[in-house]
Amino acid sequence: MSNDELPDDWPGQVQRELRRFAEARDWPRYHTPRNLILALVGEVGELAELYQWDPPEPPPMDRVAEEVADVLIYLLRFADVAGVDVAESVAAKIARNEQRFPPIEDRPA
Ligand SMILES: [Mg+2]
Repeated sequence: MSNDELPDDWPGQVQRELRRFAEARDWPRYHTPRNLILALVGEVGELAELYQWDPPEPPPMDRVAEEVADVLIYLLRFADVAGVDVAESVAAKIARNEQRFPPIEDRPA
């Protein structure tokens, strides 16, 4: 599926899949907002570790992609448990940033 084919509610679709995955394993009892945030921070640390101390070679892309997936999965799962509508909150934030940070061509000289 290319980016052009992604449905507007792709975060919701992924969240429903993650919820189904967790429920099939009786994991929701562990998926408190606190536990999910701590897991998310751990995964961000794993991603950051790949770039720690400015390595001479870029880290392997398969490792980067795996950690990006871990971070996004825990963030989406946290938002689901916490009741955050990801598509709506991201769209609102982008709209606010459009107002706060005008494009260069719209700035007074
Ligand atoms: Mg990881």
